[in-house]
Order: sequence, then C-alpha cells, then structure tokens
Amino acid sequence: MNSFHHAPEDYDCPFCRVAAGVPCPLPHTQPGDVILQNEWVTAFIASGQWPNNPGHVLIVPNVHFENLYELPLEYGTAIHAASRRVAVAFKDIYGCDGVSTRQHNEPDGGQDVWHCHLHVFPRYTDDRLYDLTAQRRTTEPEERQPYAARLREALA
Ligand SMILES: [Zn+2]
Repeated sequence: MNSFHHAPEDYDCPFCRVAAGVPCPLPHTQPGDVILQNEWVTAFIASGQWPNNPGHVLIVPNVHFENLYELPLEYGTAIHAASRRVAVAFKDIYGCDGVSTRQHNEPDGGQDVWHCHLHVFPRYTDDRLYDLTAQRRTTEPEERQPYAARLREALA
C-alpha cells in the first residue's frame, strides 16, 4: 500500500464484485445492472443516481486498481473505448442533449469507492449536474432495470 491508497486493509471491493458477477449487498449493484463487459472492463448502471441524469453508467477495469495513477494504459484505453460506446448509446437510447464523463481520485478528489471508475452521464439542457451532487440517492435494482435492459440491447 502506498500513500495514494485509501482502501482499508479488509476492503470488500464492490466493483471487484461487479466485474466478477457477484451481487453487492442490496440495494447496491447487482449482475443485472451490467450493460457491457469484455476482457478488460465492465460497465453498469450506477446505483447512485443524480436527480436529472437518470441511467448514468460507471465503467470499471476488471482488475482492481484503486486510482488513475496506477491504472495501466491498456485498461485506460479500454475504458475510453467503452465510454465512447456508452456515450453513443446514450444519444440513441436516451435522446440526451449531451454526454459528460467524470473520474475522481482520492477523498479530496471526490473518490468514495476505492476501485478506479469512470462516470458517464447523459446530459440535458439546464440539468445542473455539478450543482446537485448532494441530491444523489441510492436507487433500487428495479428502478435501474429499464435503463440496463435498453442499453444492454443497444450494446449487444
Ligand atoms: Zn476492486
């Protein structure tokens, strides 16, 4: 462990679970939330959702790396490629006005899950994404299902 790591020693990593197809404790990420998986990355509907950007997606490397500092470039390339596919699918499926990506490192960088991940958000006119983080809420799997089903079909 180096000084850039913040995961506790006994960390039960939720995104390693997702990549391995293992359910997280409810209502957090379930295998049915996954929309895209290949040998490098897994993409899924995030359990934490912002009020005006429903159906936003997280993309994670299938191997545990805590942050961008140590992410091998091959995984970075795969995450970027997946983000483009998800962004195009958002345009087709959600009909959004734009797409934004966000990636956070360390607590002061806004990270709160200790497995490197990229957020991909559908954006809408005046959606105030960056002002409404305090209104983020944890959704139930049933609420995520329609988004996951449509994106899975689009990305198949
Ligand atoms: Zn992990």
